[in-house]
Amino acid sequence: MKLVTFIHQDQERIGAVTNAGQIVDLERAYGLYLREVEGKAHAEKLAPIILGRDMCEFLRRGAEGSNAARKALAYVDTKANGTDDRMILDRRQVRLMAPVPRPGALISAGKNFSDHVAEMASKKGPTVPVAFLKLPGTVIGPEDDIPYPPEVKNLDYEVELAVIIGKPCVAVSEAEALDYVGGYAAFNDISARDVIRSENKFGIHLMGKSFPGFAPMGPFLVTADEIPDPQNLKVKLSVNGEVRQDSNLGFMIFNIRAMIAYWSQMGLDPGDVLTTGTPRGVAAGRKPDQTPWWLKPGDVVEAEVEKVGCLRNRIVSE
Ligand code: MG
Repeated sequence: MKLVTFIHQDQERIGAVTNAGQIVDLERAYGLYLREVEGKAHAEKLAPIILGRDMCEFLRRGAEGSNAARKALAYVDTKANGTDDRMILDRRQVRLMAPVPRPGALISAGKNFSDHVAEMASKKGPTVPVAFLKLPGTVIGPEDDIPYPPEVKNLDYEVELAVIIGKPCVAVSEAEALDYVGGYAAFNDISARDVIRSENKFGIHLMGKSFPGFAPMGPFLVTADEIPDPQNLKVKLSVNGEVRQDSNLGFMIFNIRAMIAYWSQMGLDPGDVLTTGTPRGVAAGRKPDQTPWWLKPGDVVEAEVEKVGCLRNRIVSE
């Protein structure tokens, strides 16, 4: 399934995307299914309890939530939207948020592609998975604007895959790691390089990765069953149509299984998000004799992960 979080009539809802690209409001569809097919009393009250009220709750419901969503989708297939005009919505009627708009933890791998480590003039890659935290509040939707922080001089992009944890996950092995994934989304790890550089003089950084809107995610959460092998997906990023990054997750130093296994030692929960790190092609990797690639207001950044989806965000002056 392709799952979404969206705003319709000023309400945050969870939904699933049909083959025709329409959005099914899962709570409304499942409520109608429960009433009409299963003959349940209080069906409209039961639906949000079984599905969860937001994506993190939905993920915590596990198989119960997924089964309910699948039943709702199968039910919708038999209907021509005659029952409730808020059940099936056109893409234009909604604003997509990030599929997980408020992750529990947002853990971003750094220096995790051999080609990116080389362009950043690092001597060698890490010998354990290393990461920083982005503030969960910096997450924005797939088409939202990214405010340009006025104090920042070197604004950069990084296409990545977001791995969304779907089950409580403690000290799991690499062999079983993918069983704990709820799904995947495209991700852009927006970075203020000058801020990071000044923070890193003291060996640690935070703010340079977490200005408002520095984590576009989406447009969908593609459930893990649809992507049995996430490790060979192509990733691509363009700015104003010009391709800047064009690579493959196969170049990761610590692969997705290794990342999950390693960080699961801290305990991971449904709705936590791990991002893979980015390949070569970032603006910070440009040489002094090359045209600078720093982002500026007005730029449109498209970050795409094969089979997962594409983000399209504009940089705007605050
Ligand atoms: Mg990154």
